[in-house]
Amino acid sequence: MSEALYEKEFKCPVCNNSFSSKRVRLSSLRVERRDEDFCTTYKGHNPMHYEILVCPNCGYSSSENNFDNLSPKELNTLKEVLSGKVVNRSFCGERTINDALDSYKLALYIAKSRDAKDSIIAGLTLKIAWLYRELKDEKELEFIKYTLEYYKHAYDKENLPIGNLDEISIQYLLGELSRRISKLNDAVFWFNKAVSNPDRAKNPRIEKIAREQWLLVKEQNKRTAQ
Ligand SMILES: [Zn+2]
Repeated sequence: MSEALYEKEFKCPVCNNSFSSKRVRLSSLRVERRDEDFCTTYKGHNPMHYEILVCPNCGYSSSENNFDNLSPKELNTLKEVLSGKVVNRSFCGERTINDALDSYKLALYIAKSRDAKDSIIAGLTLKIAWLYRELKDEKELEFIKYTLEYYKHAYDKENLPIGNLDEISIQYLLGELSRRISKLNDAVFWFNKAVSNPDRAKNPRIEKIAREQWLLVKEQNKRTAQ
C-alpha cells in the first residue's frame, strides 16, 4: 500500500454503517500543473480521486463536506432512492481514475436526488470534467457545459461565496469555462465583469489571470473573425 494514502473512518448518515475510506496525505502532495479553470494536477496520487465517500453498504455518496448534514426530508428521500439498490463494488481501497469518475457520478446522482444547491452540482460536474480531461476524453466539454449552466444559476440565485468562490472568482471562472467551450462573447462578458469588479484588489491573483485570459480570448476572437 502506498504511504501517501491513509484510512479514515466514517459513519453513513443514511444506513448507519461504519466504513473506512482512503485519503491522500496532504504532506505527500506535489503540484505538477495548475490549469486556468483551477484544475490542479499532482505528481503521484490525486486527492480529488478520493474526495467522494461511497458507503459500501447502501451506496450513499457525497463529498466529505456535505456528507453528514442531511435534513430529515433529505434522509427520507435518500432512504427511498437507495432502497433495494445493490452495491457490488467497493470504493474504499486505492482508486483508479475510473473508480474516481464513477464515485463522482454516484455523488452527482445523489446530489440531484436530494435536490442539492446548483453550486454543489456545479462543483461535482466540474470535477467530472477534470477527470475526463485527465483521461483525454472529449466528454470533458459536455461536463464543462453542464457546469456553466449550474454555476450561472448559482450566481443568479445563491448568496456569495458560491462554494469557496468569491464574486470575482466565480465571474472569472464563468469566463474561463465559456472560453473553453468557444463561447467567446460570453467569455469576454464574464472576464470584463471580473476585471472591473470593485473588490478586485482583494484578489490580485484572480485579477491577473482574468486579464491574461481576457487578452487570450480577444486574440481567439480576432482569429475567428479573419
Ligand atoms: Zn450507507
